[in-house]
Amino acid sequence: MRLSKTHVPTLKEAPAEAEIPSHILMVRGGYLRKVAAGVYSFLPLGWRVIQKISRIIREEMTRAGAQEVFLPAVIPGELWQESGRWDVYGEQLLRFKDRKGADFVIGPTHEEAIVDLVRGDVRSYRQLPLNLFQIQTKFRDELRARAGLMRGREFIMKDAYSFHATDEDAQREYQFMYDTYTRIFNRCGLAFRAVEADTGAIGGSLSHEFQVLAETGEDALLACDSCGYAANVEQAKARPPAAAAPSAAALEKVATPGKRTVEEVTAFLGLRPENLVKTLLHLADGKPVAVLVRGDHNLNEIKLKRELGARDLVLASDESVEDATGAPVGFAGPVGLGTPIYCDLEVCAMPSCVCGANVADAHYKNVVCKRDFQPTVCGDFRDAAVGDACPRCESGHLVGYRGIEVGQVFFLGTKYSVPMKCNFLDADGKEKPMIMGCYGIGVTRVAAAAIEQNHDKDGIVWPVAIAPYEAALLSLQVGDPQVTEVAERLYAELGKAGIEVLYDERDERPGVKFKDADLIGLPYRIAVGKKGVAEGVVELKARRSPEVHKVKIEEVVRVVREKVVAERAGGGA
Ligand SMILES: [Zn+2]
Repeated sequence: MRLSKTHVPTLKEAPAEAEIPSHILMVRGGYLRKVAAGVYSFLPLGWRVIQKISRIIREEMTRAGAQEVFLPAVIPGELWQESGRWDVYGEQLLRFKDRKGADFVIGPTHEEAIVDLVRGDVRSYRQLPLNLFQIQTKFRDELRARAGLMRGREFIMKDAYSFHATDEDAQREYQFMYDTYTRIFNRCGLAFRAVEADTGAIGGSLSHEFQVLAETGEDALLACDSCGYAANVEQAKARPPAAAAPSAAALEKVATPGKRTVEEVTAFLGLRPENLVKTLLHLADGKPVAVLVRGDHNLNEIKLKRELGARDLVLASDESVEDATGAPVGFAGPVGLGTPIYCDLEVCAMPSCVCGANVADAHYKNVVCKRDFQPTVCGDFRDAAVGDACPRCESGHLVGYRGIEVGQVFFLGTKYSVPMKCNFLDADGKEKPMIMGCYGIGVTRVAAAAIEQNHDKDGIVWPVAIAPYEAALLSLQVGDPQVTEVAERLYAELGKAGIEVLYDERDERPGVKFKDADLIGLPYRIAVGKKGVAEGVVELKARRSPEVHKVKIEEVVRVVREKVVAERAGGGA
């Protein structure tokens, strides 16, 4: 494609609201324009990237036996009422009425619509399994949509849903989709990890997230340095500690005047944070509960909430803490406390600890779990942390990463098929609910994540597989007949060799062309200049590397073709 004939309006400055690299570079590089908060138009370059990602997904899903369908974006509200999500999905669900007053939603996800489709036509175990997917626009009414494609309100998603007669078959498909996703993100040329995840609003019992690794990622991940274990911090398990023999020393009250925080108390008593236990009062559905975690650990509210089975969990107000403990905030402790006590396993394993004494300006020393207080439940209630022993293998330790979630696979079970009566007649003649899985990829988010992972101060550094074009061809002096002759010839030959090339033949200074080429970020750049042409060479540079190579004019097409073909299949950055 000739650059003068395509619409690539590059900008020197990013809009003030753009804060993250992918947003800044997609707007500056002429890929994307904003229409409303979190709603964007794709320009020709941007749409080519989306098409390339979609093609890889489509090929791999089809190869895995899934069939492509296309469901409506507008879905009747009654289907959402039937599944029960009309009431629980909240403000992100964009609802409206048609002219007859009927409720509709713009689909943020399509479980209801697909279940309605399948229950209408699938009656027998002979028609199962079935895996249907689509690549389609979704809408989620995010409150803060400022991160470009990273958290848009309107976005393109690949969503797939599978239906099975048995749990075993659904588990098989889950693993199969996991493997398919691994192939998809490898082919996109991205460095990623599959991590164990919370099932969140979609529901179900088993889930993995596919996370593109990037320092700017909003998700904190922990992965074992020895085995394949990896999980979102919210979900990561801590390995249960080995219990130490409890201390025989007697409980002792010590004065800690005005010392409330972990730092103040440990400094005052000459202890380390891991010798202290924090007593954190919470209200679970309005009722006070105390949680004990070691001074150097963070409470994990998701784990606690799951154990409590509570719908609502909040940190107690100062007033509620005083009511429950009889002491001002900062001196709560489990000894003599009247509320249920949820004790983290690391606390149970301590020989003894220091904690608040439930009176002002005092703490207890030599507190032993199950001797000086009785925990209601001992369990894993803390965030796993960098350096912790791996919960899965013997020798590994956890390492921290940051990631961007681009895909998720869920084992749904019968969460939707039971309320929506999506049943089939089994071989034994009995009617049973179908077992389901669902599998999503944020197509537009993959593009943004690829840039977050692959950019520098000058612009985007696309992996070959999802770059809008594979090479940039720059004519540095368009007024020079010999330069033009060589550039035109290379443009034609690159095209014949099957290389997707963006040919900058605009009447601009070389500096402008080099800047735009770096910003747009195509994997290879061929610059044709007067001096080189006189010597029979052009300059070849990979966007990813600083070196510029002089290559003979008659060899450059072959050299570029070899590099591009080798990288088209992805394989991870
Ligand atoms: Zn491990």
